[in-house]
Amino acid sequence: MTKKMNVESFNLDHTKVKAPYVRLVGVTEGVNGDKVYKYDIRFKQPNREHMDMPGLHSLEHLMAENIRNHMDNVLDIGPMGCQTGFYLSIFNNNNYDMIVDTIEKTLQDVLEADEVPACNEVQCGWAASHSLDGAKEIAKEMLAHRKEWHQVFVE
Ligand SMILES: [Zn+2]
Repeated sequence: MTKKMNVESFNLDHTKVKAPYVRLVGVTEGVNGDKVYKYDIRFKQPNREHMDMPGLHSLEHLMAENIRNHMDNVLDIGPMGCQTGFYLSIFNNNNYDMIVDTIEKTLQDVLEADEVPACNEVQCGWAASHSLDGAKEIAKEMLAHRKEWHQVFVE
């Protein structure tokens, strides 16, 4: 890497990470002392694998809806354009273990889901592009590696 970029993940060497993992990207503090914690939830090995869009999209809907049943303070969970992971933003909670447990519970919800929430043209921008089975496949593989999520880099 030569020049330091504005975006944290553009300074991350994606050839040195080992997915899956959950990584704290950074902390932003507001003027009143509130803190926003941003996490990189990496499901797939960068430049080797990726999530297919219909499964990724359904996983987004399922996680966005269900994570809020397990934890307050969730600002946003959204997919990366490279289709290898999601960003999760949380405020005023820096408990890594609690956040990882919450992600685990949320992915268990995905496995138990009977339908994708808000999967219609009123509530979604591309309602035809969904796959519940695809989402479950991604969640299942991620959960199978639960013990390795804390390790971000190749040793
Ligand atoms: Zn949608």
